[in-house]
Amino acid sequence: MTIRRRIELQGVVQGVGFRPFVYRTALRYGINGRVWNSSEGVFIEVEAATNQIDCFLQTLQSELPPLARIDHLAVSEQSPVGTRNFEIDTSQTIPGQFALVPPDIATCPECLADFTDPANRRFHYPFTNCTNCGPRYSIIRDVPYDRPFTTMADFPMCPACEAEYTDPLNRRFHAEPNACPDCGPSLELDGESTGDLPARARELLHAGKILAVKGLGGFHLACDATSEAAVALLRERKRRSGKAFAVMARCAEVADRLCLVGDAERQLLEDPRRPVVLLPSRPDNGVAPSVAPGQNRLGVMLPYTPLHHLLFDDSLTTLVMTSGNMAEEPIVSRNDEARPRLHTLADHFLLHNRPIQTRVDDSVVQLFEGRPYPVRRSRGYAPEPIALQHPMAEILACGGELKNTFCLTKDRYAILSQHIGDLENLETMAFFRETLAHLQRFFRVKPVAVAHDLHPNYLGTRFALQESGLPPIGVQHHHAHIASCMADNGIDGNVIGVALDGTGYGTDGNIWGGEFLVCDFLEFERAGHLACMPLAGGDSAVRQPWRSAMAYLRATFGSVAPIPGLPVFRDVPAKQIQVVGTMLEKGLNTIPTSSCGRLFDAVASLLGLRHETTYEGQAAIELEMMTSNASGTYDFDIVGRDPFQIDMRPTIAGIVREMRMGVPPGDISARFHSTVAHVAAEGCKHIREAHGLNRVCLSGGTFQNLRLLGQTSELLRHADFELFTHLRVPTNDGGLALGQAVIASHRLRNTG
Ligand code: ZN
Ligand code: ZN
Ligand code: FE
Repeated sequence: MTIRRRIELQGVVQGVGFRPFVYRTALRYGINGRVWNSSEGVFIEVEAATNQIDCFLQTLQSELPPLARIDHLAVSEQSPVGTRNFEIDTSQTIPGQFALVPPDIATCPECLADFTDPANRRFHYPFTNCTNCGPRYSIIRDVPYDRPFTTMADFPMCPACEAEYTDPLNRRFHAEPNACPDCGPSLELDGESTGDLPARARELLHAGKILAVKGLGGFHLACDATSEAAVALLRERKRRSGKAFAVMARCAEVADRLCLVGDAERQLLEDPRRPVVLLPSRPDNGVAPSVAPGQNRLGVMLPYTPLHHLLFDDSLTTLVMTSGNMAEEPIVSRNDEARPRLHTLADHFLLHNRPIQTRVDDSVVQLFEGRPYPVRRSRGYAPEPIALQHPMAEILACGGELKNTFCLTKDRYAILSQHIGDLENLETMAFFRETLAHLQRFFRVKPVAVAHDLHPNYLGTRFALQESGLPPIGVQHHHAHIASCMADNGIDGNVIGVALDGTGYGTDGNIWGGEFLVCDFLEFERAGHLACMPLAGGDSAVRQPWRSAMAYLRATFGSVAPIPGLPVFRDVPAKQIQVVGTMLEKGLNTIPTSSCGRLFDAVASLLGLRHETTYEGQAAIELEMMTSNASGTYDFDIVGRDPFQIDMRPTIAGIVREMRMGVPPGDISARFHSTVAHVAAEGCKHIREAHGLNRVCLSGGTFQNLRLLGQTSELLRHADFELFTHLRVPTNDGGLALGQAVIASHRLRNTG
């Protein structure tokens, strides 16, 4: 007997070759019906005998395409209508609802097989892709996601590609960027477009040259990572920054020679989203010292486009692959801006003619307790919507200033932008606006309110207040961090929030950053914080850890008089110290801060590790890197209540005492890390006693420090707290917008 059933599927079922898979499976069991996409997921109607449909349903779940995942499957009965074939309905326009905007995906194993097979028509073709892989978000001009609305519209398909594209049984059925050497994009090296260009590019890399290479979401600057001369030159040309460069390893085996790669690490390296993975370096791994100065870890990724595979050979297995940009500007993506903006950085230009519509930087992920812990959520992840526990009003959240991302909400989803960068200049602000316009159109979001940080001078705040034209909702920085962690974990209600970071504007106008909150999605109470220190010299103090050291020394010992055995008094001119001493004494040009970042800065300077920084968080990162396995902690006091304050002066006194005794700085750093972990745990115990809360969320940029995160987690679990750390969005300001959006949505609901 013939029956008809309707199947509704949710999960990762769109843009991953799911409909062709359904089609093939239907043919296999001789089933009639149709399959189509909607904003709600994939729908299938099938008409056949019961046992056929049972087999069909079973196969659907057991033989999924590589990137697909079914989260929810519902089956309902319908009356048979006598359908005689099986069809894929390719229309994807769903007015007013969600459209499909998949992220960019690394070359799949099958495409790589095509690419490496000399008999295949795509042998060594740098733009090979299929429905399971290739560019998506970066080439989409408009929705629905269909070839005419991508930057591939300029490349009419040849008959062979067209045949693949229209054959539901083919892996390239509706692969929008489908292409081959006859009809698709092509390379260009320094204006030349003929000959073996990848071979010439490899020769140049071998010769120590720096190449600007156009990739998936923007330009990279590439050079041989084992050549100190090449890497040092690149570092010099990029100026200003001591930030580590990411490297690309030819394959997982090479990555394993560079770094310690366990199963979880390997899985993450080979993830189709291909993030940069921060891994512990092996000693003497051959990587030039200038790649990651002062660090004992390395950011490693594997090739994710066919072109990348062509940049390596047997003696060229590790390349520096850093964003093609100057200092803090957004990544370069257009051919016509490459030369003007990168000519002082690159010796040669390897371009292609497939336009990049949307710039997307590489994502960066760490591993914490064996699972991914995002540092930068960008290519491969954005703009995949993040599922939330509640339906939300449509909100735009502008995020923070550094490592900016913004967030749009719709229904039960948060759409977090790719990494925009530091909103400190016009170029980055232009990138923000451009990406916002894109994502609003793609996801059909019409925000009813705009959430922003309380800092009046952030460009994101100004955008919200002066430009967006929407009712503004200000959200305190650390409240947003904790709400972000809550939403990330799908929890609701009251929690204890420990938000440790460098800088966040407080409701009292001071700079906060060592915060213990009691909060929910609506409100927060500042339950405690690190005792405030005066930061002398405003913004310049952030780049000069020695100023924080002086503030802590003065607070601890009553003056900034030289202390024998402390390198800071040798390294920093006495005159400068005197000036700062006077400022601290008279309260001139100082601002009180409870920042945890400045505490790390102070300790880094006291240990003689670093008195000046070139990028945010540098001192803290280097402090983490130098820790030994020494045990022990320093003293601290918790004083007062509502809010309680954590007095770190005993810790500073302990550190100074040990420095004077000649204790190795690595041991001091280890004890300092343990101390901060104890500070976090003791603060939580205080709050538990007063409020009866047992759930703790850890957030803020300082928790990128895995040693601190690990020790804090251990202490909290040991004290029977229920612990939540970030899973899908970064703990740093890159995750801030999610928290802002959720809070704003709750406030709207509460007032309206
Ligand atoms: Zn593929
Ligand atoms: Zn073709
Ligand atoms: Fe922050």
